[in-house]
Amino acid sequence: MRSVSSDKSQTLFRTRLVALVLLLGAVCCICALSCAKDRSSKEKWHVERFYSLGTLCVIRSDIPDNSDIEKMVHEEEEAYSAFIPNSFVSRINESAGIAGVEVSAEFIGMIKKSIMLSKETGGAFNVMIGCASSLYRNEYGEFCKVPDDKSLDDLVKSGCLDPEDLVIDEIAGTVMLRRKGERIDLGGIAKGMIIDKVAEMLIRKGSKRFLINFGGDIRVFGDREYVIGIRDPESDSGGVSETVRIADKCIVTSGAYERNFEENGVFYHHIIDPKTCRPCVIRNKSVTVIHDDAVIADALATALFINPDLRDSLIRKFEGLEVIFI
Ligand code: ADP
Ligand code: MG
Repeated sequence: MRSVSSDKSQTLFRTRLVALVLLLGAVCCICALSCAKDRSSKEKWHVERFYSLGTLCVIRSDIPDNSDIEKMVHEEEEAYSAFIPNSFVSRINESAGIAGVEVSAEFIGMIKKSIMLSKETGGAFNVMIGCASSLYRNEYGEFCKVPDDKSLDDLVKSGCLDPEDLVIDEIAGTVMLRRKGERIDLGGIAKGMIIDKVAEMLIRKGSKRFLINFGGDIRVFGDREYVIGIRDPESDSGGVSETVRIADKCIVTSGAYERNFEENGVFYHHIIDPKTCRPCVIRNKSVTVIHDDAVIADALATALFINPDLRDSLIRKFEGLEVIFI
């Protein structure tokens, strides 16, 4: 766990500002409103937009060409997606109970982090959720199917969601699921992980300031504060519920208001409670997490959406963590 660089320890400057509206892409749950201190007008910003990881990805920075970064993002998606045949995730899931799959050292690092996060959240975030989440998806990964109750009940009893069954062999460089039917799903942290990589690449390219926004998961950098608007989950037109000021940090929101569908009058969404293998009970419209590590922020937002009671214990465990429920 990294410590927070925060002399700017009061990053959280909250004001209820209903009138602020900015459309940074219809899919975003957080909108970057402006750079603080009015310097943005004099500085040249370059903006790249592309579609990856099932969402709109936007990079605003002082670097004129980031096509190399866009290429990297697509390559990473190919490793982390459960819907791209031959990705690390697909191969691990297909080889469950049969054999270990050779993966990169970086991927092993991510799996270790996902196991740590599964444990630290008491299993609310659970990297093994794939056996349940895949039942709600079609072949393209769209969240649109209703599994039958018996399959879900059997899954709850099966023990297939135990992260202890995810076996890493660091010497061989392999990852294996112990039992057939087990599946990992990195959908809850892939965006965070890739955002951190994009940030590293931008810094290596000499960037002095940037704002990365992948479908509402945001990382900012530079000698300034950024004002970020947290989307009002009930607004269809990009309305903002609250604003926060952050510097050199990530801000991630999880909610049920984007990936969902209704069938026979029942509302289904994509954040699954591992205890029931069903969409979790909605206790908040959204949860926003601020941290300096995007993977941690991403996983904890998912976990806190499922179980908001984890808030205090997670704040004690993860230094610098800030949480906003809407
Ligand atoms: P979004 O992808 O919309 O930003 P999240 O970051 O909250 O939302 O991640 C939700 C995704 O994480 C789901 O689409 C699914 O792939 C995966 N997921 C769902 N439930 C869990 C869970 N309990 N633990 C870990 N991952 C989950
Ligand atoms: Mg998440």
